Amino acid sequence: MPTFDFDLFVIGGGSGGVRAARMAAQQGARVGLAEAAELGGTCVNVGCIPKKLYSYAAGYAESFEESAGYGWKLPEAPQFDWAYLKTQRAKEITRLNGVYASLLKNSGVTLVTGWAQLADGHTVEVDGKRHTARHLLVATGGTPFVPEIPGREHIVTSDAMFDLSPFPKRLLVVGGGYIACEFASIFNGLGAKVTQLHRRAHLLTGFDDDLRQFVAHEMGKAGVDVRLNIEATSIARGPNGPVVTLARGQQIDADTVLFATGRVPNTQGLGLEAAGVALDERGAIAVDANYRSSVPSIYAVGDVSTRVQLTPVALAEAMVVVDALFGQGKRALDYEFIPTAVFTHPNIGTCGYTEIDARARFGEVAVFSSEFKSLRHTLSGRGERTFMKLVVQKATDRVVGLHMVGADAGEIVQGFAVAMRAGATKALFDSTVGIHPTAAEEFVTMREPMPG
Ligand SMILES: Cc1cc2nc3c(=O)[nH]c(=O)nc-3n(C[C@H](O)[C@H](O)[C@H](O)COP(=O)(O)OP(=O)(O)OC[C@H]3O[C@@H](n4cnc5c(N)ncnc54)[C@H](O)[C@@H]3O)c2cc1C
Repeated sequence: MPTFDFDLFVIGGGSGGVRAARMAAQQGARVGLAEAAELGGTCVNVGCIPKKLYSYAAGYAESFEESAGYGWKLPEAPQFDWAYLKTQRAKEITRLNGVYASLLKNSGVTLVTGWAQLADGHTVEVDGKRHTARHLLVATGGTPFVPEIPGREHIVTSDAMFDLSPFPKRLLVVGGGYIACEFASIFNGLGAKVTQLHRRAHLLTGFDDDLRQFVAHEMGKAGVDVRLNIEATSIARGPNGPVVTLARGQQIDADTVLFATGRVPNTQGLGLEAAGVALDERGAIAVDANYRSSVPSIYAVGDVSTRVQLTPVALAEAMVVVDALFGQGKRALDYEFIPTAVFTHPNIGTCGYTEIDARARFGEVAVFSSEFKSLRHTLSGRGERTFMKLVVQKATDRVVGLHMVGADAGEIVQGFAVAMRAGATKALFDSTVGIHPTAAEEFVTMREPMPG
């Protein structure tokens, strides 16, 4: 029997890696973890957490404005201090980095700082030192993808958005995915003049079509200049910042150009080839249903291998691996009805199938949809509207799609996701008493299906 330094060695101290290391150690395994940058990975340092903090910051601008309709007279126009927000955010992120370090330490995980490379199926090398383990887990996440475009050195990616200096008065966002939409909304709320370019006819590919149109309209009403069917072809440095040339020759000046044009798995410089780990057609680590790569002792979870790039998915995948290796045994993760939110202003919350996907998968569906001005905005003076939609499989009456654009959509949809995973029918929704007055009650009071 070969002896190893560790039972499990994890590469990457982000969402998936830290969860796997900590949980494996709590099961009594000897665990090592290598992290090349800050603990917490994308989510903590340049993703979910700082993004949501900035979304809150942008929300205050709306609240100050709306408060006038409720009788508040502000002594003077509120001033936004970008430098202060950045400092506060950095402090909180540093605190979280420390929390992650303590979690690892307290569970007995050996933390190795530095860039890790696979040497073979049981060996990882960090700064010239070799660590062996019975099992290896690659959880190295992903990184922004920027297409080859002339002048790409003048653009930034989402990683840089949290620490921009100075605050970009004119922000050009290229991209139509959730990260592009969130940054467009957030910086618009913080006071930037935001233009968002997307090469397709609608934002947010993969989301329900009605929701996509609705949210683009609401973002536009809130001040984001959303331009669709348009492509940036080059960027040059002008006297006052980057100048972006569009496919039709038009030019846009900006202080900052953000390319939010997708993400790619972090597989470079990892020694994957040396270890014989195969990649799939997306360039991600190919894994089976148990997250095992083509090398039986090497596993991969999170953005480096998954198709659903969300922190809770990375955590759940990590738990499946730990349970299989050190816990109660193999089990499969169910990817159906994963709820998600997009922190545009207004927010998006969604769970289950889009109307089109539901028709393809379940046959005939009934669609219930509602659009209204929430009670809050009767006095606030804001023209923002709320959108809700249910997609119901006709044969079983099961609610298979639930979509919302409106305040706190993520908070609302999380609860409904439990009901949907439990197989809740439309009749069950209808028999549930609403909470009045809320926007959420609309989900249990929609009675008339859309025609067709
Ligand atoms: C702007 C933005 C907003 C997002 N918002 C949300 C959100 O609201 N909700 C949500 O669920 N998800 C969100 N995500 C996605 C979420 O951040 C990722 O799905 C999640 O972080 C993936 O976790 P992971 O463990 O796979 O990788 P990561 O968290 O990226 O961790 C990978 C870690 O591996 C380290 N590493 C890489 N290579 C090496 C190496 N060779 N040696 C040592 N260490 C290495 C990296 O430094 C990093 O710390 C967002 C992402 C972005 C970019």
